[in-house]
Amino acid sequence: MGKVIVVGIGPGRYEEMTIRAAEALKTCDTIVGYTVYVDLVREHFSDKEFLTTPMTKEVDRCELAFAEAAKGKTVAMICSGDAGVYGMSGLILEIGEQYPEIPVELISGVTAAIGGASVLGAPLIHDFAVISLSDLLTPWEKIEKRLLAAAEADFVICLYNPSSKKRHDYLERACSLILRSRPGSTVCGIVKNIGRDGEEQTVLTLEQLKTTSVDMFTTVFIGNSQTKVVGGRMVTPRGYRL
Ligand code: SAH
Repeated sequence: MGKVIVVGIGPGRYEEMTIRAAEALKTCDTIVGYTVYVDLVREHFSDKEFLTTPMTKEVDRCELAFAEAAKGKTVAMICSGDAGVYGMSGLILEIGEQYPEIPVELISGVTAAIGGASVLGAPLIHDFAVISLSDLLTPWEKIEKRLLAAAEADFVICLYNPSSKKRHDYLERACSLILRSRPGSTVCGIVKNIGRDGEEQTVLTLEQLKTTSVDMFTTVFIGNSQTKVVGGRMVTPRGYRL
């Protein structure tokens, strides 16, 4: 009997992957994933069998992984970042109930928030909230509630899925909600293509962020009331006396 290993491959580049994740990909028979992620790892594991499914076919992708494992293969299901952060590990465990004889192993990866934080400086050194602006699987009213509550409670806020073709004004909407309890001068950061070619970072104010357009390969950081710019980098102080 085979098994399914859910592997978070980190933000993108091979070097950003954990050793455990790389070992799992080295020893598996088959790598299953969304086309874009499979293309990120393909050259490093070129002797493997690769199976891909498009973006919206997550259930099919999980079923494919179990079907291949049932043939006796060790199947690595890959996700960018960590598979347990807006990734596939929950769905794999749910669908796995129909395959009780196939073991499932989960390997964590560096999620975009963590990868992006070290590009910007040290924005997440204190309590932070991670919120996805995608309303594909979450009603927008709930997203609004979470944005308002996190802003009110002075969390550093990290936004995933800040934009897409259909949702081009969502970041502006999110900033308007946060501006109800945070000043326009709040220090923010954006990082595009974390750990990939074309990595780009910008430190800016919340007021500026509101009118900035970003794409879906970007993670956004909104500082708390203490966050400042130190030598051009975004830093949330932990509170040590200097
Ligand atoms: N499982 C992934 C998140 C998937 S949700 C993880 O743990 O990182 C997809 C969102 O994650 C993107 O819209 C973007 O906001 C963020 N993201 C993922 N990889 C990224 C990267 N390399 N650079 C910038 N943002 C990234």
